[in-house]
Amino acid sequence: MKNQNGYVDSFARLIQCPTVTDSGHEYFKAFHDVLDEEFPNVTAKCEKIELGRDVLLYKWTGKSSEKPVVLMAHQDVVPAIGGDWKHEPFGATVENGKMYGRGTIDCKNTLFCTIQAVDELIESGFVPPYDIYLSYSDCEENSGPGAEMARDWFKAHGVKPYIVVDEGGAIIRKPAKQVTKDICAVGILEKGYADVKFIARGIGGHSSQPPKNTPIARLGALIAYCEKHTLFKAKKTAPATAMVKGLGEVLNSGLKFIAKSFGGTELFAKLARRYGGAYGSAMFSTTMVFTMMDGATAPNIIPQEAWVNANLRISPNDTAEKCFKKLRKIAKKFDVDMEVVKSREASPMVDLSSDGYKVFAEAVKKTYPDVAVVPYYMFGGTDCRTMQEIATTAIRCTPCALSSEQLGGMHASNENVDIKSIEETVAFFKNFLQMLR
Ligand SMILES: [Zn+2]
Repeated sequence: MKNQNGYVDSFARLIQCPTVTDSGHEYFKAFHDVLDEEFPNVTAKCEKIELGRDVLLYKWTGKSSEKPVVLMAHQDVVPAIGGDWKHEPFGATVENGKMYGRGTIDCKNTLFCTIQAVDELIESGFVPPYDIYLSYSDCEENSGPGAEMARDWFKAHGVKPYIVVDEGGAIIRKPAKQVTKDICAVGILEKGYADVKFIARGIGGHSSQPPKNTPIARLGALIAYCEKHTLFKAKKTAPATAMVKGLGEVLNSGLKFIAKSFGGTELFAKLARRYGGAYGSAMFSTTMVFTMMDGATAPNIIPQEAWVNANLRISPNDTAEKCFKKLRKIAKKFDVDMEVVKSREASPMVDLSSDGYKVFAEAVKKTYPDVAVVPYYMFGGTDCRTMQEIATTAIRCTPCALSSEQLGGMHASNENVDIKSIEETVAFFKNFLQMLR
């Protein structure tokens, strides 16, 4: 077994590989060589299944193929250009017990801790009750096809994952002063997603003789209308209720009573939406925000066409089509066309009484006796939704302890993780795999 310095050196080698999404095969090849060297038991014992691109899928054969488990992560990272990095982003510098570098929390920590756990268990002679797969996409950060390629392999080979675990929630140290314990936020659902383009058209012309109601003016009126009005109603949903009730257990007394008694009501949803800021809105309704726009190609041209993109995150009790219907009506009012660029519905929610969720929660408790397990309603997306299509239970959480400040490092500068958190997370995955039943 590797000692602490073993983890540091080995994890550092993973961080030092600049596997930025779509950077090129040579970077991923070098990363694969590091994995082969650092995890010799996995290299010797697991079957490496060829899927194409630089996608990795390992199979560790267990005593039975009945309830296969898939541990997911992604190899790619977002670029580390700009920002105020105090250490070289791919240097893996250790300072005050923390390792700095791109990917330390998104999510080479997940990759390292899963493969390290398997490597140690193989070395100890452990044989898992079921087949275990390690599935690592090379293109999660741009929603590339890596996870789909793995899913298609499972489908083609008649493998139906019983439990899938991917990135998502984490262990949050002291999330707020009203919360009495550290929590493990276990991702149970992700919201739906859509990009919608509003396009205004006109005759264009020279900007020296401008008419009224040009495309940009109409888009501006549409944007102002959407900002001013509540487009999507607040509603209680099962994941929000599960999260509020779960948090209720660890809130201080007054808030605990409110969360536990009223957390699942429509009134709570309405009030939280109104007074809970951006988080309250995201938790209790579909949200929409304008993210991109374009008009003429020169400052003295009235555009014949201008557009603005709106990004929606769809609540599980709305459907994409229901939202689009409403938006089309508004667009018409402002003489604007609407096109759906892409859309997907919210994922199904994890059954909290399922075997998969229970064994995951029990492994968290065993590894971190003082941490409260809280169901976590995710607004962002992960690769997990792809595998969820064929899985019984799909959990989005790496139980790696992070402070609120460290969470802020995701996709930002000075991304870092505590070395101690890495050790604990390896221990978690070993417990989890040994507790499967
Ligand atoms: Zn990620």
